Amino acid sequence: MSSNLVIVYHRQPYTEVEVDGKIEYHENKSPNGIVPTLKSFFGRFDKGSWVAWKEAEDPNNPDFERRIEIDDDFGTYAVSRLPLTRAQVKSFYEVSSKEAFWPILHGFKERYNYDPVDWPTFREVNWAFAEAAAAEAAQGAVVWVHDYNLWLVPGYLRQLRPDVKISFFHHTPFPSADMFNVLPWRKEILESLLACDVVGFHIPRYVANFVSAARSMLDVEVTKRQKVDDDFATGFSALTEVSVPSQLDYKGHSIRVQASPVGVDADYIEEVASRPETAEKTAQIRADLGDRRLLLSVGRTDYTKGGIDQLESFERLLESNPDLRGKVRLMHVSVPANQNMTVYENIQADLEQMAGRINGRFGTLDWQPIALISRAIPFAELVSYYRAADVAWITPLADGMNLVAKEFCAARVDGDGVLVLSEFAGAAVEMGSALLTNPFSARSMDSAIEQALNMEAPERQDRMRALRETVQRYDIRFWADHQMQALGGDAAKVVEMS
Ligand code: UDP
Repeated sequence: MSSNLVIVYHRQPYTEVEVDGKIEYHENKSPNGIVPTLKSFFGRFDKGSWVAWKEAEDPNNPDFERRIEIDDDFGTYAVSRLPLTRAQVKSFYEVSSKEAFWPILHGFKERYNYDPVDWPTFREVNWAFAEAAAAEAAQGAVVWVHDYNLWLVPGYLRQLRPDVKISFFHHTPFPSADMFNVLPWRKEILESLLACDVVGFHIPRYVANFVSAARSMLDVEVTKRQKVDDDFATGFSALTEVSVPSQLDYKGHSIRVQASPVGVDADYIEEVASRPETAEKTAQIRADLGDRRLLLSVGRTDYTKGGIDQLESFERLLESNPDLRGKVRLMHVSVPANQNMTVYENIQADLEQMAGRINGRFGTLDWQPIALISRAIPFAELVSYYRAADVAWITPLADGMNLVAKEFCAARVDGDGVLVLSEFAGAAVEMGSALLTNPFSARSMDSAIEQALNMEAPERQDRMRALRETVQRYDIRFWADHQMQALGGDAAKVVEMS
């Protein structure tokens, strides 16, 4: 095959829908998330492929369509689908990735589950991804691999295709060496990542952590450093380094490492926020609230998102401020993960139990303090809630970036609203004008929410102005251009984007 750009991402870039017994490939419903952004890269290269897995009962079934051509708003590109059995998906994704790697990447050693990891299966699946990418790539092509569940792909691909340019983007946090080195496969993972030409992370701190982990295990030399003064670190320099490595050498191979924070499509969100139907829905939400204030919390159901700590803080807020009873409402959106995994089901049950208890304790006939929503809200509707909220309360214990915080600001075309944001969301590095809080400290959590509720309009508007400037400047196009520069070079046949 002969693609100039091969994107390797575990999810398929569309939703499969059966219409009259025929499979059709529809655009994913959510206009957000990384998939549409990645697809937009196909417009910049003259031929593109996407490699993803698709569950198959029998991977050897000759009827399994291994490779399909897609023609959508992003152009024509091939999708190479790896048939994985249920057992492989469970082992590689649900067990190795979610039970072992995910807790370590987010700093939850106590949730790390080593026993069920089947490393040979993880290797086998990563090898299959590497083979599929190798089969798609033209001579000297760019192969862009995404996220920790494909950690071993770069190393395998380098063996299979020494000619291609390999880039890797890490979407989660990268923890410190002390945490990362808990993984017994650390050396193999690090060596694979060091086979890349470019390794990207959201923020400088993750770059620094990666380099220190690599240097703790392998003979890696830092050959260039870059100052992190104003770029991406306007807000919270205490959590970043003054300068971070930008180029490494490992066994004579040079690797560029860089921070590129993923942004949102601020123009699109503003457009949705400005639609008459959004204004109508916003007005209706406000009318239903009466004189009550709305605190909004949105995230996936995951222990990293800090839902329980937030509900505890809300309970203390009502306990110590009787005048707020009947006057505030917390809308807590917790979107369940797709997989039926016990760990997520338990968190959902804990949230429901706790919200029920707080509602029982403080609620009255005409006031429920917490509305717990356990389903995904369609994006356009979510924007109405962003617009209607007095405070967006986003306090993950750990989060690679957190797009909800950025979307909230992009949606505030009225220039008002308060963002309370965890220091431990990657977004905090750029969003220093938010009220930053430490979700591991009850005192910090409680004072941030009280400060948010007491903030006067001029301060709210000043902060929101600064936040909106950042979100608009470092938007998704900025990220795409930054990636493009790193991916470019001789290998990429870059064509102008329409
Ligand atoms: N989202 C949504 N409906 C919901 C809740 C979330 O469309 O009810 C979207 C939200 O707009 C955002 C994404 O889900 O684009 C969550 O991204 P984020 O980076 O905040 O968290 P992640 O789930 O990637 O950890």
